[in-house]
Amino acid sequence: MIDASKLTEEFGSLVFSDKVMKQRLPKNIYKAVHKTIEMGSHLELDVANCVAAVMKEWAIENGATHFTHWFQPMTGLTAEKHDSFISPTDDGSVIMEFSGKELVKGEPDASSFPSGGLRATFEARGYTAWDPSSPAFIKDGSLYIPTAFCSYGGEALDKKTPLLRSMEALSREAVKMLHLLGYEDVKRVNTTIGSEQEYFLIDKDFYKKRKDLLFTGRTLIGAPATKGQEMEDHYFGVIKPKVSAYMHDLDEELWKLGIPAKTKHNEVAPSQHELAPVFETANIAVDHNQLTMEVMKKVADKHNYACLLHEKPFEGINGSGKHNNWSVCTDTGVNLLDPGKNPGENIPFLVFLVSVIAAVDDYAPILRLSVASAGNDHRLGANEAPPAIVSIFLGNELSEVLKGVEEGCTYQSQGKVQMAMGAQVLPHFTKDNTDRNRTSPFAFTGNKFEFRMPGSAVSVANANIVLNTAVAEELTRLYDKLAGYSKEELNTKLFEILKEEIVKHKRVLFNGNGYTDEWVEEAAKRGLPNLKSLPDAMPYWISDESVELFTKHNIFTKEEIQSRYDILLENYSKSIHIESLTMQEMVRKDLTEGLVAYQKDVTNEIIQKKSVISGAECLLENNIVKVLDESGSLMFKALDKLAADTKIAESMTQALETASFYQKTILSDMDELRKYADKAEALIPDKYLGYPTYGQMLFSLR
Ligand code: ADP
Ligand code: MG
Repeated sequence: MIDASKLTEEFGSLVFSDKVMKQRLPKNIYKAVHKTIEMGSHLELDVANCVAAVMKEWAIENGATHFTHWFQPMTGLTAEKHDSFISPTDDGSVIMEFSGKELVKGEPDASSFPSGGLRATFEARGYTAWDPSSPAFIKDGSLYIPTAFCSYGGEALDKKTPLLRSMEALSREAVKMLHLLGYEDVKRVNTTIGSEQEYFLIDKDFYKKRKDLLFTGRTLIGAPATKGQEMEDHYFGVIKPKVSAYMHDLDEELWKLGIPAKTKHNEVAPSQHELAPVFETANIAVDHNQLTMEVMKKVADKHNYACLLHEKPFEGINGSGKHNNWSVCTDTGVNLLDPGKNPGENIPFLVFLVSVIAAVDDYAPILRLSVASAGNDHRLGANEAPPAIVSIFLGNELSEVLKGVEEGCTYQSQGKVQMAMGAQVLPHFTKDNTDRNRTSPFAFTGNKFEFRMPGSAVSVANANIVLNTAVAEELTRLYDKLAGYSKEELNTKLFEILKEEIVKHKRVLFNGNGYTDEWVEEAAKRGLPNLKSLPDAMPYWISDESVELFTKHNIFTKEEIQSRYDILLENYSKSIHIESLTMQEMVRKDLTEGLVAYQKDVTNEIIQKKSVISGAECLLENNIVKVLDESGSLMFKALDKLAADTKIAESMTQALETASFYQKTILSDMDELRKYADKAEALIPDKYLGYPTYGQMLFSLR
């Protein structure tokens, strides 16, 4: 355990951080690396050689024997291949080696990673390239080097490359705009992200006994426990001692890796928790979120838990999301989404705010798609998570500010209001200018936007790629409208244009309750898309509008867009296919075994009873057997239908059509089967089941 007084030293102790570089690298080399990190300038090989040598020395001192290029292929997971530092010498001994070339470039065989048709199977070459802006670290005896991954032809095969491209695009357009507005000292603008991660913990032994959790990450059958989340007694509740020990251990492991884990608490559903880090630059935050998910699972295993990151592990209670807090900050330290004291007169703030609003309105379907997965489709629109309709919550004050711009009068801030708690002894403080809205998919929260649609299991890279690019595009559009005006005219023109934008895009603003049916109706009237499932939304990804957006800003080539389309669809269909097979097997084998065993015991009981009490009616026992028989038959009918439809799905070849079939037919077959399976399960005593029940899994944590 980390001694609390040593925490500041222990934080990042396994990271080849800026501090370590400053201490160990020659001054000129340190400067060159810094220039690369800050300005994205090219790194010379002699610099890389020197960094590699120092990195190796540091890594060995910290117990590493291997190094690995660590990357994020389009599976949404991370990938690594480890090489040791050893190099044999003539005399039969070894020396430890690590060159600049090895640091900068790797050549993993790319043929077994999804490429969505970007290369044929025989074209196996792929490259990983060092991302010096995300620090290397040590984990399990290896030096991890964050890298980007591309094909022999230079197409991005990962999530990091387009993310870095989108950050650069946003920076470029933001700087251009800021220079126009007179802020010429700004050289770069950074996207910052803080992603709050939700997760479930269950007993590891339970986890191992459930094929559905093992193979698909979510339960496919399971009668609800007699208690759910209706008592609202878990959210922010006292953290149980064993769970608390887990969280503590998790924090420490994350801190050593330089991940600024900050907040932890119980979530709404039983056994559900959340961890939030302090925000960081986008690519580092994404790397750190991937690592966080990995470490969460690893530490859980040590504590005899399984950590479930699926978006919907359990029916009937809340699923898990990953709130993506997003802002833009200049290299001069200004958060461009900070309204300041007088938002109505804060021009950079208004320009960026309006650009975000326009981006979310114009590119809502693509933003919706950036968080689409088979798992997340169970959350969105299910009245526990934001609806699939993308809208923005601004709160009262900012709504007034925009109304002011629209009506041509400047909004004057009311200043902060004193909080009245009605007891003298309580401290006096001012309240925030806006309340919270937990039902909005895209909410302004003081000095950042919180995008609440991302699911808990997936990388947040996609969401930020789309967000950054869409905002970059809106900034370009605004810039083009403003460029060419003299300094004197600029201010008037700017407010005219902002007004136009507000009028055009205010349909996407909504401060009310996003979980209601009225909102669904209202949104339809406003013409806002409501793309409930991934297959519904997919065509937008390859639409002209999308291709134009991404190619214009050099985020994706047309081929890269198509490859991501193919992968996403294929992944969706495959996920549901595995779910269907797993469900069939669990029902056919595990549940049926319990059902039959119980019926057999009860039937034997009837025979026994009749032999003792002649003419015994055995009403209770007969009834049990009858009901079990009935629900068993219905269950098997539904099972047969699922099996037959799954065969049809397996024979389909067209990707979008197949995905739609999985969504419309297979998922509803599964729902139907689940109805009977859960009914049957509820009838039989727990001891007949070869797998743990909802009640056991959700309410057994100590
Ligand atoms: P909240 O109560 O709104 O959830 P927090 O301050 O706890 O507020 O922030 C939630 C998350 O938002 C944290 O991960 C935090 O680091 C992050 N965050 C705060 N400011 C920013 C910012 N400027 N850019 C990106 N993320 C931010
Ligand atoms: Mg939050």
